[in-house]
Amino acid sequence: MTSIATLGSHCALQVLKGAKDEAFKTILVCEKSRERLYRRFGFIDKLILVDSFLEIIDQQCYSKLKDEDAIIIPHGTMISQMDSADIERLKNPVFGNKWILRWESDRKMKEKLMIDSKLNVPKSIASPKDIKNLVIAKRHGAAGGKGYFLATSEKDYKKKRDKLISQGLINSDNDLYLQEYSFGVSAYLQYFYSPIKSELEFFGADRRYESDIDGLGRIPAPQQIDIDLMPSFNVIGNSPLVLRESLLDEVYSMGERFVDASKRLVPPGMNGPFCLEGVYDQNGKFTAFEFSARIVAGTNLYVDGSPYSTFLYNEPMSMGRRIAREIKEAKKADKLSAVIT
Ligand code: AMP
Repeated sequence: MTSIATLGSHCALQVLKGAKDEAFKTILVCEKSRERLYRRFGFIDKLILVDSFLEIIDQQCYSKLKDEDAIIIPHGTMISQMDSADIERLKNPVFGNKWILRWESDRKMKEKLMIDSKLNVPKSIASPKDIKNLVIAKRHGAAGGKGYFLATSEKDYKKKRDKLISQGLINSDNDLYLQEYSFGVSAYLQYFYSPIKSELEFFGADRRYESDIDGLGRIPAPQQIDIDLMPSFNVIGNSPLVLRESLLDEVYSMGERFVDASKRLVPPGMNGPFCLEGVYDQNGKFTAFEFSARIVAGTNLYVDGSPYSTFLYNEPMSMGRRIAREIKEAKKADKLSAVIT
């Protein structure tokens, strides 16, 4: 019997609840420090306790997962804590396309895939010397916005960069990627692409609640000027969002272009959940500054289904459950190899 496994963090509860709803055995690779938390949930059948998530590539963990015929569901914690080579080296099957996770972590590859998808992408700035307007400095990988900052000039940039170095968050300029700041309202668009049905499903949208940039509006302008605040973009949680219905057609087109480009650049393509992340401007035009090539934590909002999944399924369908459903259908059609790498 196939089981579904994931790392104990990020969206593990949603993924394993969804897997249980689809009648899979559920396994959590869990750091010992979080054992007490995850033991509270009855839908988790088995915990594999580790000191660090990195042990998932060790022989011992591999054998335990293999004995359970487990499929690993990758998520943001996997991307942020393991490097791409380690993820690619996993011998247990990974849901979706593990090769595309490198394209999420590497800024240059990421930019290429987004441009090939004909998404409207903010310009990257090659050198701090070229900073003319407002830019955002971002760390590589899935840093979750921690240690990101805004700058308007090279001088401003250097001051803030040095602060991050002194905090031990970065070592040098090489750890930062500079991008034009996009104005508008943020929206994170959650999709699922099924290689079994050859169909794209728009699953939901959310906004991130980021500290402490989202708290800044509570401080009046004179005090903002007085305090030398360097706001970060660290994700604390997510809130739901529904879009104007007139935006939906383009939401699907962007997702389809992304799926098509992924098939060309990173076979077998963008299978399973993914997210396009950006802002809508005053004309309803979307600028995408990021993508996630796996389930995002914003889907945790919709454990009982989202306003969009409800149009597609006559039952509560979370992203976690949708993943399990895909595995189930692939097995039934004898096409499991189409949904794993
Ligand atoms: P990311 O890791 O790229 O998802 O960025 C973390 C957060 O930084 C996002 O959720 C946004 O709030 C902000 N952000 C990133 N890139 C941009 C951009 N080009 N323009 C405006 N805000 C951005």
